[in-house]
Amino acid sequence: MAKAAGKPRKKLPKELAVIRADNCTGCDACIEVCPVDCIYKVPGTEQPTIGHFCDVDLERCIGCALCERWCPWDAIDMVPTTEVAYHVANKGGPPEYVEQNWERLVSIAQSLAELAAEQQAATKK
Ligand code: SF4
Ligand code: SF4
Repeated sequence: MAKAAGKPRKKLPKELAVIRADNCTGCDACIEVCPVDCIYKVPGTEQPTIGHFCDVDLERCIGCALCERWCPWDAIDMVPTTEVAYHVANKGGPPEYVEQNWERLVSIAQSLAELAAEQQAATKK
């Protein structure tokens, strides 16, 4: 059953990218290399004194791992799609960031994780 992840999509990647917000310096190297433009600067974090951090639109990430390879600060982890919600919930950043964006971040990640688990179970049959 396809859940709230939205439209049915083709097979999900085995891994998705999660940015550890506390390690991200906002250098934007990952934005430059992502082939599907699914990394964005988190709105409201662009303050001259502290810079900004970036996040990933998981619904569009194809799991290519280019961003992980290019990040100079080791701030990106490729995590199993079936476990992505846990990693997103613990991605760090300002204390209120994940909590205030729970639906958009964690709920979507959970939907993708469930869909990935269903897809993996179906291919094993
Ligand atoms: S490359 Fe790494 S440090 Fe630079 S913006 Fe992306 S996640 Fe942040
Ligand atoms: S894994 Fe690939 S598609 Fe996903 S955010 Fe990184 S560069 Fe973009």
